[in-house]
Amino acid sequence: MISYEEALQTFEPVIGLEVHVELGTVSKMFCGCATEFGAEPNSQVCPTCLGLPGSLPVLNGAAVESAMRIGLALGCSIAEWCRFARKNYFYPDMPKNFQTSQYDEPIAYEGAVDVEVDAGTVTVGIERAHMEEDTGKSLHVGGATGRIHGASHSLVDYNRAGIPLIEIVTKPVTGADARAPEVARAYVGQLRELLLALGVSDVRMEQGSLRCDANVSLRPRGSDVLGTRTETKNVNSLRSIERAVRHEICRQAEVLLAGERVVQETRHWHEDTGVTTSGREKSDAEDYRYFPEPDLVPVAPSREWVDRLRATLPEPPHARRARLQQAWEFSDLEMRDVVGAGALELVDKTIEAGAAPQAARKWWLTELARRARADGVELVELPITPGQVAELQALVDAGRVNDKLARQVLEGVLAGEGSPEQVVAARGLEVVSDDGALGAAVDRAIASNPDVAAKIRDGKVAAAGALIGAVMKELRGQADAGRVRELVLQRLG
Ligand SMILES: [Zn+2]
Repeated sequence: MISYEEALQTFEPVIGLEVHVELGTVSKMFCGCATEFGAEPNSQVCPTCLGLPGSLPVLNGAAVESAMRIGLALGCSIAEWCRFARKNYFYPDMPKNFQTSQYDEPIAYEGAVDVEVDAGTVTVGIERAHMEEDTGKSLHVGGATGRIHGASHSLVDYNRAGIPLIEIVTKPVTGADARAPEVARAYVGQLRELLLALGVSDVRMEQGSLRCDANVSLRPRGSDVLGTRTETKNVNSLRSIERAVRHEICRQAEVLLAGERVVQETRHWHEDTGVTTSGREKSDAEDYRYFPEPDLVPVAPSREWVDRLRATLPEPPHARRARLQQAWEFSDLEMRDVVGAGALELVDKTIEAGAAPQAARKWWLTELARRARADGVELVELPITPGQVAELQALVDAGRVNDKLARQVLEGVLAGEGSPEQVVAARGLEVVSDDGALGAAVDRAIASNPDVAAKIRDGKVAAAGALIGAVMKELRGQADAGRVRELVLQRLG
């Protein structure tokens, strides 16, 4: 395939992002069923969310409030009057054979967010944020891959059917150009941060409570007409979003340069091979036979209600970042790296738990970032908490472990061996600073290196390094090097 740079010589990429967020409400969108993740299949269902005849929906007020707060935080206008609509399509995981959604009357519309990337800020326009319900989940059994192909039968779990969803749709993002993949990733990252700050969802991409579809199209440089787009479905990590958009730009450029047409379709992202493959063709005129939902009253939030919700919005993320940067005394570059790595919340919580800002930054952006990259996961998905990182740093600060031992403690925590204190105890990793044990090791080192000892006696203090090295080796790196040096010089000085 042609390179990204080649693709960009001829074409300008335009992206659009559709994000589905599962709200963290206690009950479902239109019934009182529980929403807990991972429950026994079909244990959180009732006639309404199973779509049984005669059952009637009742709108979840908490979900409407969350939808409005999300809209306000995205700078949207909140509709004075809007309705739900039935989106008709047939699929086994959709018990009613229609999805209760919003169509031409979304609860929130016309907003914008400033997305920060390395080379500056790109404004992403928000077309709409609307309310809908999630579908159930199909499970294909008997095949090798869990896909329907090759399966002997399929099972459906309706626990997820009816969980409140907010779909947030951007306008076409035309200002990103070569940074389009980076902007896509940064937008979703910032959106996740915002939703977390709002407290409306746990936004766990790996559990599907935040799902992203990435639209990509290309147009010849200088053209202001949008090209044919593809929609890559359910890309489930920030890193994958960037990779999928970049791949799709190269793939479409190759198709167009070969004189062929891009097919308007959905595509599937394959994390392992780093490519997208064709899904189903999708025309703009797809007919879902939308019509207003007759069983639900319209939603007409009073302006007082909207104002009251506006007053509950958290500090905007960019203002918060500026405030924290000043408090932590980070340089612009340090702060950008922290934000870019998705580590802002983690660093903040680590500092709250007692670590110094630079120490917190260092752990998350070096050792832990390396580990996350190696495992192909986000920092937040690593099995370590900010509190544990702060505890580890406290051990370093107290001189109980040195840098090398601290890395081993970290490994133990990541391997699930417990807290840093527990790992130190179980693996016996504490630095030896007891003078008795250190002194004995120093005496042995002097006895087996008489030439070095003689040099130091003659005033060549620099030679002490060899003896310190010998002691460290004997104590498997677990000696307090400063104290060893003092003891060596005491004996020979
Ligand atoms: Zn139900």
